[in-house]
Amino acid sequence: MARFPENYLVFGDAICSFNPVYGQGMTVAALESLALQNCLDLDSQNLQARFFKEAAKVVDIAWSIAANNDLRITQMAGAGSPMVRFLNWYMSKLHVAARTDRVVAIAFCRCRT
Ligand SMILES: Cc1cc2nc3c(=O)[nH]c(=O)nc-3n(C[C@H](O)[C@H](O)[C@H](O)COP(=O)(O)OP(=O)(O)OC[C@H]3O[C@@H](n4cnc5c(N)ncnc54)[C@H](O)[C@@H]3O)c2cc1C
Repeated sequence: MARFPENYLVFGDAICSFNPVYGQGMTVAALESLALQNCLDLDSQNLQARFFKEAAKVVDIAWSIAANNDLRITQMAGAGSPMVRFLNWYMSKLHVAARTDRVVAIAFCRCRT
């Protein structure tokens, strides 16, 4: 938006509502709250623009994981760029490894930018 109301923020599902199948919504909301805390710690000026920029990073990662994974359904077979297909291959290996490898499981749960 070129103009945004003063003293007004959007948060959680109001920014982006995810497919519940992937169980991402609360995690994204929690990461957005950390982003908001960081923005408030730095300055109170121009809060909306700074917060939305940080929230977008959180949303983009979760969205790309879910949306790219949707390309794995049979009807979409072969869809997506080579990078998308590589990431889906990688994520499927990661999920299998995380079932039995504690280090991988913890790293996966902690990973964020
Ligand atoms: C079926 C399902 C399963 C899910 N499973 C998971 C999961 O396993 N893991 C996960 O991380 N996420 C999951 N989610 C997503 C998660 O529930 C949401 O991402 C999260 O609740 C978003 O929080 P929120 O505060 O943004 O919105 P909400 O939790 O929707 O809160 C919004 C609140 O605003 C209230 N409200 C709405 N309009 C008004 C109004 N005009 N005035 C006053 N109040 C209003 C609503 O009643 C509600 O209480 C699931 C979602 C669904 C639907």
